[in-house]
Amino acid sequence: MNGSLRDAARAVERRIALACERSGRLREEVNVIAVTKYVPLSRAVEAIDAGYRNVGENRWQDAKEKWEALEGREDVVWHFIGHLQTNKVKDVLGRFAVIHSLDRPSLAEELQKRAEKLGLVVPCFVQLNVSGEPSKHGLAPDDVPAFLAKLSEYGSLDVVGLMTMAPHEDDPERTRPVFRRLRELRDEANAQGAYRKPLTELSMGMSNDFEVAVEEGATWIRLGSVLVGKEEG
Ligand SMILES: *Cc1c(COP(=O)(O)O)cnc(C)c1O
Repeated sequence: MNGSLRDAARAVERRIALACERSGRLREEVNVIAVTKYVPLSRAVEAIDAGYRNVGENRWQDAKEKWEALEGREDVVWHFIGHLQTNKVKDVLGRFAVIHSLDRPSLAEELQKRAEKLGLVVPCFVQLNVSGEPSKHGLAPDDVPAFLAKLSEYGSLDVVGLMTMAPHEDDPERTRPVFRRLRELRDEANAQGAYRKPLTELSMGMSNDFEVAVEEGATWIRLGSVLVGKEEG
């Protein structure tokens, strides 16, 4: 059973503030995406009304009902955070403002083609598999420079940063090397001028590990269970 969202938000905000303090960062540098994939529409609306206007979903099929109910709410910014199949691009483009899971050339090509047709410029994160776990989606870090060079030619995509998911660890401290590596990879790409402009953003950190991610430079943290809650079944 989920408790009050405002109570959860108060606790989460305090933890973010402390992580910022520990690492000498400003709270305004960290954006929170309320991940609503585990909850029904009513709970998503509660999150939005509590001030979390950045909403994340990872599958169009699951997001559809909520998206349609909230269509026209100009204050809501939809983030697509899950693995994106090429044949789902047509469902997601124009509905989700930001794509966090750009992880392969074929997807980039499809996004570019359709975004251009729609006259959109789509902010994207390149998703990396930093930990190398075979079960995880994401580009291998070694492939980043070539991918970013290719993406520099795609005028309808606006790559703003890198995204990763850390392996689940009982001790969140153990995720630190993954988040640190993502930051280094972004800084290296910028130093090499790998993309047509500097990448400023890092989308990293979930319920279990967001404080470590904030300490390592996250600018977008994606919070489901700890903030919005999670319904069983
Ligand atoms: C589900 C999901 C989240 C949020 O998960 P929690 O651990 O509940 O915070 C964040 N990012 C992605 C990519 C997800 O799929």
